[in-house]
Amino acid sequence: MSSNGKKPIVISNGTLIDGTGNVPTRNEAIVIQGNRIKSAGRLLGDIKLEDRDSVEVIDAAGQWIMPGLIDAHTHLSYGNPKVPGETRGRGTTRPEFNTLRAAWNARKVLRSGVTSISVPGGTWFTDVAVRDAIKLGLIDGPRVYCAGRMIVTYGSIEDEEPSWVGTPEHSIGVLCNTAAEMVTEARRQCKHGVNFVKMADSRSGESQTISKEEIAAVVSEAHRRNVRVAIHSRGSASTRAAAEAGVDWIMHTDLATEADLEAVAKAGVRIVPTVTFVERVLEFGREVGQEQIQIDLDRMKRNMDGLVNVLQRARAFGIKVLCGTDTGNYSWMPYGKMHAKEAEILVRYGGYTTIEAITACTRDNAFAVGLENEVGVLEGGKLADVIILKQNPVADIRVLQEPSNLAVVIKDGKKVNLNDHASEEIPLTFQEAVA
Ligand SMILES: [Zn+2]
Repeated sequence: MSSNGKKPIVISNGTLIDGTGNVPTRNEAIVIQGNRIKSAGRLLGDIKLEDRDSVEVIDAAGQWIMPGLIDAHTHLSYGNPKVPGETRGRGTTRPEFNTLRAAWNARKVLRSGVTSISVPGGTWFTDVAVRDAIKLGLIDGPRVYCAGRMIVTYGSIEDEEPSWVGTPEHSIGVLCNTAAEMVTEARRQCKHGVNFVKMADSRSGESQTISKEEIAAVVSEAHRRNVRVAIHSRGSASTRAAAEAGVDWIMHTDLATEADLEAVAKAGVRIVPTVTFVERVLEFGREVGQEQIQIDLDRMKRNMDGLVNVLQRARAFGIKVLCGTDTGNYSWMPYGKMHAKEAEILVRYGGYTTIEAITACTRDNAFAVGLENEVGVLEGGKLADVIILKQNPVADIRVLQEPSNLAVVIKDGKKVNLNDHASEEIPLTFQEAVA
């Protein structure tokens, strides 16, 4: 009988980390019925653990139970990992192949203990399709909450082509140079089923490319249609403008000043610093050289310093920090490997305890997937996204980064097969695939 049938799952024993920030406690029983947690704590009277015909028991003795991880910043459809012969450009001119690859990526993410992801931008409406296919059970994967192509102006990130080319259909940006064009594009994306609209300012924060009025116009339109708005903003002025224009969350915020952070705090806007990506750029850049990755390492070093300051100051200002990684935005940001890196960074640079970092990646991140109060916490009534670990993440937060530490992954009340084909590395070349 499949675990999503009538038969409840009971997780007994082990140490419970419930995602609320509470200290870990001894777990008696977590009862999962259908796709929800029925109860956590004392075992309900009508369930008999000995009666294995009517209950599936997972014995977590000596293990750690916590909510499924959430990555507030993962891209599924940028066209990674690349196959030889594909162009360097973002996205791909082959949406059919790219969609299948995105579906594969999603399955890989789930097998690393990540049960929900927020996808701020991609090609075509690939992510909407992958989200819906997962929802319908055509493929398995994490819950997906996604944007469409990013709204950009001349000079924004992802405005990579000469002006006479603009942003071709297969790119992940879409040029909109007036508030009216932005609102039209936001409406088009809403029509196609995005969960949020992603806007994007300059690549590294060197200048502000979208005005506060333009952001506010998109926010007003999207919110009226019950769709949220997020923005790529590494700069100072753009971060303050985004906060004052009322976006739902700001990605990066590298160069935010005290006054900018004050504006963010006052507006009650969340931030997704995504330090993982910048740290990886610096690490990988040192390894292979600046030429190879084509990113200015000095500029990234400056942004890294800015981000460390932001992490520390955000705490003082009481700004909610969500955990994202930018997995999938380059071939060297592999799926299934980086998703919990941001938690380690919060501990290392932000002064977080490991329990606080876990809460940021679970309960707090639920906001970025539109499921606040539904996932990220293990208590009765919540959706049943649960992982069980062989090592203690409270003692060492890096435990969360290693899929081999996972004993069990449950998403939506269903156990994920951690040993199937999707857990393997895919061939890097067609030659390998044929061989
Ligand atoms: Zn990104």
